[in-house]
Amino acid sequence: MSLYGVDLGGTKIEGAVIDPLRPDRALCRLRVPTESRRGYAHVIGQIVRLVEMLERESGTKRPPCIGFGTPGVIDPEIGVLKNSNSVCLNGRRLREDLGAALGVEARTANDANCFALAEALFGAGRNRSVVVGLILGTGCGGGVVVGGRVLEGLHGIAGEWGHNPMRGERTPCYCGRAGCVETVISGPALERHYRERTGRAVRLPEIVRRAASGERPAQETLRRLRSKFGEAIAAVINILDPDAVVIGGGVGNIDLLYDDATRHAVLKHVFNTSVRTEFLRPLLGDSAGVFGAAMLSASSRSEAKPAGSPRARPSRSG
Ligand SMILES: [Zn+2]
Repeated sequence: MSLYGVDLGGTKIEGAVIDPLRPDRALCRLRVPTESRRGYAHVIGQIVRLVEMLERESGTKRPPCIGFGTPGVIDPEIGVLKNSNSVCLNGRRLREDLGAALGVEARTANDANCFALAEALFGAGRNRSVVVGLILGTGCGGGVVVGGRVLEGLHGIAGEWGHNPMRGERTPCYCGRAGCVETVISGPALERHYRERTGRAVRLPEIVRRAASGERPAQETLRRLRSKFGEAIAAVINILDPDAVVIGGGVGNIDLLYDDATRHAVLKHVFNTSVRTEFLRPLLGDSAGVFGAAMLSASSRSEAKPAGSPRARPSRSG
């Protein structure tokens, strides 16, 4: 039986049909616009339309269980979605409504968990037992995969490193606290740091180019990224001691995160005399979300709550 995965994004909904015997390749991939401004019922209708298109295109029948990557978080206690940047989804019983509309069991996880699962199974982190997948871009999300399964956690927040506090940092965060990792090393945080030093609003890729050409404030901004990333990820390593950390998102494209000096910046804060953790670039690109969603439906969930995998973070990527 084929696996169906659907990645629900802010502007598009992508679906894929995957052969479980060759799970690293999609039999078919299609997308439709989300059009969330037209309301919740319309978004559900778009997903139903997409699944019907997948059936026609692949010549397969929808399986009894479909995996969904969602923005925001499904609260494990009350079962409704929150913190979605597609606001029409907030407060809705998305999992139940999808299941009813499609006549299937719907399993959900947020985008960072889907990313982590796909990279751990088929991408940069394959054949490692504990993999942390980070989406370090507009925000700082993360997911933890242990033995090929997403670690969800009691509150659905496992892997939420972006809201750990950083020493000496006080920038207010949308989550209501201050000095969170996300306020220090997300793309917007790095751009803000550069702007405060130079008075110039410049996008991150340009800051990276300026640093390479020797511009001091740009270089200082990237040195700050290195040292703060080291401190932030060391807190994760001290708890989980993962085999690999896969770094997605726009900030994850920056070369210095993978060099020896960054490894040294991590080691400064790790409770050990060496760090062998692999820091890896993702291999699946845009495909990670929909592959991760499909693989949610592949794992048996006998010991898991039917509540799926919610997170306490708006959907971020890039
Ligand atoms: Zn925060």
